[in-house]
Amino acid sequence: MQKKSWAALFLCGIAASSIAQNFKDDYKPITIEGAVTASLLKSPNSAGFSKTAKEMGFESKKIATLEKEIGKERNEMLINGFVYFNDAVSQYVNSVLDKTLASEPGLRGKVKVYVTRYSSVNAISLPEGTIFLNIGLLAALENESQLAGVLAHEVAHIKKQHVLNNRKKIEKIKKEEENVYNPDGNVFRNLSFSRDNEFEADAVGLSIMTGSDYDASEMGRSLELLEFTDTNETTFNLEKLFTNEYFKVDTAEISKKKIKSWLKGERNNDDNATLLGLVEDIYLTHPEIEKRVLALKEILKSTSYKFAGKKNEGEFLKIKTTAKFELMNNCLKTGNYVRSAYEAIRLLKDYPDNKFVNLCLMRSLYWLSHLREQDLLDKAIEKSVHIPTKNFAMLNLLLKKPDISEYKKLMYGYIKLQEDKLKTNEEYLLQLAMATEAYLGKEAAGVFYRQFAAKFPSSNYATFIEEKLK
Ligand SMILES: [Zn+2]
Repeated sequence: MQKKSWAALFLCGIAASSIAQNFKDDYKPITIEGAVTASLLKSPNSAGFSKTAKEMGFESKKIATLEKEIGKERNEMLINGFVYFNDAVSQYVNSVLDKTLASEPGLRGKVKVYVTRYSSVNAISLPEGTIFLNIGLLAALENESQLAGVLAHEVAHIKKQHVLNNRKKIEKIKKEEENVYNPDGNVFRNLSFSRDNEFEADAVGLSIMTGSDYDASEMGRSLELLEFTDTNETTFNLEKLFTNEYFKVDTAEISKKKIKSWLKGERNNDDNATLLGLVEDIYLTHPEIEKRVLALKEILKSTSYKFAGKKNEGEFLKIKTTAKFELMNNCLKTGNYVRSAYEAIRLLKDYPDNKFVNLCLMRSLYWLSHLREQDLLDKAIEKSVHIPTKNFAMLNLLLKKPDISEYKKLMYGYIKLQEDKLKTNEEYLLQLAMATEAYLGKEAAGVFYRQFAAKFPSSNYATFIEEKLK
């Protein structure tokens, strides 16, 4: 099977949104409904952006260029299917933004929020009013007040025009230092501007929060979550999951010592890194998070705010669960198989009978073994966004360990053992056939390919199966 492109995967289908799902038995991924209309491809606050830029002393020509650059980046996100729109998750997040800005009605019309398909726990804002919130962040948040806190922080960046301010300062320094040899100067100054901006965005965001019905004290926790502190997660039982008649998990190979050194050696990559060069929060400011949380607590001491509780708990949890399923599926579709396997194992704890999750784990293992065979596994692992948790380390150590024959046993064993549960499922039968082919060869797989052809003659995979049976 060929891997499809994002656009083909995410723009072709029209289907009901996922919000009515119960998650117990199956999951239907969100597909984007309708076209990217002209109204979507519009800056939320073009007039305000030009006006502010002008007031800050940017020349008209420069403003036009900036706006064009930003618009291009923003629209490409939409056109290429990297953001959700016209779906239940987007609607929900925008409704939270409505409530967050209830006391700032003038601001609400100037900002728009989109949820992206990116996995990292992060959000960014563009100076013309667009906020991009990653699905990975939505999956990590614990309640609606925390989501409001993240949105308030991003709105504050826009309100304070931090991006334009940074540009201005950097340009000024460049001019002053034209004749001075200082190769790293701008880089370091940019970093310190960003830190100041983060503290200011927290403070301004907090005042937006205290004016809303949300619990402002949750804002600090949402900052902590940027570090992916899934402290509540119980340890994966990889042995129970993968030990079977074909493969045995070797716990000695995944020793405490190894987990520790793995965690020590790993660093995060960010899949937002190129977007406008405006990477904020996660890398520039992570060491500052503790300080930022303390600063927020300090301000809250002398501020009156509502202890408003969790807010819309049921609705939030549905969206968060949807985000977890989407995150898993997006990782699979973009070839981030270690992460999709990891997210699938996490979901299996709550939804052990969910067909979609099971299939996702099977596919992840299949493609990982395929990469392993092609000697591309290390590269793929290196490329994926890493998560600094014990469970992720354990999974990586397991997946990095076996030689190819062991690897195929692991993959085949897991897929084969689902047979009783899933044998009537089309996707499963296909996966079983492919796994058998990889592990035992074409002849052995023929049984399953023939079964497939008989059971599902009008399947989308019919041509693929025909090829296999030739
Ligand atoms: Zn920020």
